[in-house]
Amino acid sequence: MNNALLDQVARTVDRQRLIDTAVALVEVPSPTRSAGAVADRLAEILTADGFSVQRHDADWPQAPIVMAALDSGRPGPTLQFDGHLDSVHLPFVPPRVEDDTLYGSSSADMKGGIAAALEAVRVLRTLDALPAGRVLLTAHDHHEGPWGDGRQVRAMIREGLVGDAVLLPEYLAEPLPVAGRGVGIFQATIRREGTPVHEVLRPPGTPNVLVAGAQLVNRLHVWNESLKEKTHSLAGHDSTFVGKLQSGEIYNQSPTECIVQGTRRWVPPSSGKAVQEEFSQVLAEVATATGTEIDLEFTVQGGAYQIDSGNSLVAAFQKAHSALIGSPLPIGAKPFVDDGNTYASEAGIPAITHGPAATGAHTLSEAVPVEELVRVAKLYALTAVEFCGGP
Ligand SMILES: [Zn+2]
Repeated sequence: MNNALLDQVARTVDRQRLIDTAVALVEVPSPTRSAGAVADRLAEILTADGFSVQRHDADWPQAPIVMAALDSGRPGPTLQFDGHLDSVHLPFVPPRVEDDTLYGSSSADMKGGIAAALEAVRVLRTLDALPAGRVLLTAHDHHEGPWGDGRQVRAMIREGLVGDAVLLPEYLAEPLPVAGRGVGIFQATIRREGTPVHEVLRPPGTPNVLVAGAQLVNRLHVWNESLKEKTHSLAGHDSTFVGKLQSGEIYNQSPTECIVQGTRRWVPPSSGKAVQEEFSQVLAEVATATGTEIDLEFTVQGGAYQIDSGNSLVAAFQKAHSALIGSPLPIGAKPFVDDGNTYASEAGIPAITHGPAATGAHTLSEAVPVEELVRVAKLYALTAVEFCGGP
């Protein structure tokens, strides 16, 4: 990568414009499933900038996705910058910039990152720096669980509204995640026949759903120990965890229902479907042993994935990172699950999550240093030049 380009990109990133964009997005509240207004705001910003904006329902007409492209006019691959505009359901904190840091709801997770990605697209356009191919900027709703179920990203994949590779500016600055665990959230509902009844009036042989719940929790606890042996060099190991057990009305009444909720996480290359089938099998055994019926709800939030470290997106990113920072970013695993898991595990589209070193995601004190937004804008622009114009 030549130094002239590095200089030009550094000089063209407009710090104040980037801050203004981030503030304009943060000031529109957007709890998951209600990101329509902020999507409209992003579309307005892009239109005012002279980009032609497309909106697609993508399975959620309440908040059609926002899409804008920068096309070099020459054949080549498409690099997508993708972000979610929705935020977790917490009280709204308005934006403010103080000590060169942006505060406010979803500033870290992840409107700051989206603003940085947009700034990168502006810079590429101003410099006419894209040698080939195109850059696609997309933003959507339905990310944060349990309110969102990832339907818009899945619809974008189905409808071909995606690139050949994806960068996601979530709040992860290190390491470069080339692998990640999948996660499913489960709810097991244990039931017996009949109605709630006084302890001493139970017909003989009445199944006990509380005992079944306790057995299930214990079974999962023991299973978790053996799941630790299913390992991946980067992503860690499999696990299952129970966070909630709920049943009973009063101390001497036999209830009819017991609910157990938790997670099941897995390393690549297992699929969510295979994991769910195995999980159902464990439940069936507990049901048989306890004379109960157990229904399973199992929601895959994102699959396990691994990107080949020789992949062209990884190579482009590391070239850009080395040019900007002086060294490649250490390789590692993604600690959380995001839309990148869906792109990589369900569509085979290489996806890298990399964004500002921001803090306070999923809390009332989100914060992102402006310097980090500027760094991400430069890095995204340089990565696009490498990826779209690479060998
Ligand atoms: Zn996020």
